[in-house]
Amino acid sequence: MEDFKKLRELMVEQQLIPRGIKDERVLKAMETVPRHLFVGDAFPERAYDDCALPIGEGQTISQPYMVAVMTELLELKGDEKVLEIGTGSGYQGAVLSLLAAEVFTVERIETIALKTQERFRRFKYTNIYVVVGDGTLGLPEQAPFDGIIVTAAAPQIPDTYIKQLKVGGRLVIPVGSRFSQMLYQVRKTPSGITTSASTPCVFVPLIGKYGWDETEAQYPAY
Ligand code: SAH
Repeated sequence: MEDFKKLRELMVEQQLIPRGIKDERVLKAMETVPRHLFVGDAFPERAYDDCALPIGEGQTISQPYMVAVMTELLELKGDEKVLEIGTGSGYQGAVLSLLAAEVFTVERIETIALKTQERFRRFKYTNIYVVVGDGTLGLPEQAPFDGIIVTAAAPQIPDTYIKQLKVGGRLVIPVGSRFSQMLYQVRKTPSGITTSASTPCVFVPLIGKYGWDETEAQYPAY
C-alpha cells in the first residue's frame, strides 16, 4: 500500500512549487484531493507522476502541474460560481470544488459523466454538479460565472464563454491546433476582454458546435 499522502506532499514540493505555483489555496487543495481515486483502477500507483494519464474513451486526466496552473489562473477566493468544460475523471472538478462555492461541469461523453458523477457522490464532493452535453455552448441556464475553465483544446475562443462570464470574470482555455496549444487567461472587462498567454500545452480536442468536428478530431485510442 503506497503512502498516498506522502506522494501528494512530494507532488506539491517537487512539481508545483519549483515551477512557480504560488497560490496557497491551490497548493493546499492539491495536497488534499486524493488523485489516485480519480485515475481508475489501472493507475493508482502512477497517479502522482509528473504527467497526464489515460482514463478511457481516448481521454486523459491532466498532468498535476497543468491542473495547478489552470486553477491558479482562475484566481478563486472561495465564493465563486465556476463552470468547467470537460469533466473527464473529475479530478480538476474536485480541486475546484474545494476552492469555489459551486462548480458546474459539462461532459459530452455520457458514460464518463455518469461514472464521474457517481465518484463525486461516493467521495462526498457535494458542491459540484455534472451535466451531460456539448460544453462549447457553455451552460446558459446557470450563467453568469465568475470563472470558466476549459480542459480540452479549442480551435478558437467560443464567444459563448465570454457572454457567460461576469464582468471581472476569468476564462482559462487552451487554444491552438489539434496537437499543440497555448493556455490563455481571458478576463472580461467593462469594455471588452484582455487576453494573456500562460504556457504551451497539449490537450485532447474540444468537440462540439464551437469546437472541433468529431471527424477532424481523430486521435489514436489508448
Ligand atoms: N478535467 C478532466 C480532464 C478532461 S479530458 C480531468 O480532470 O480529468 C477532456 C474531457 O473533455 C474529455 O472527457 C472529453 O470527453 C471532454 N470534452 C471534449 N469536448 C467536449 C465538449 N464539447 N463538451 C463537454 N466535454 C467535452
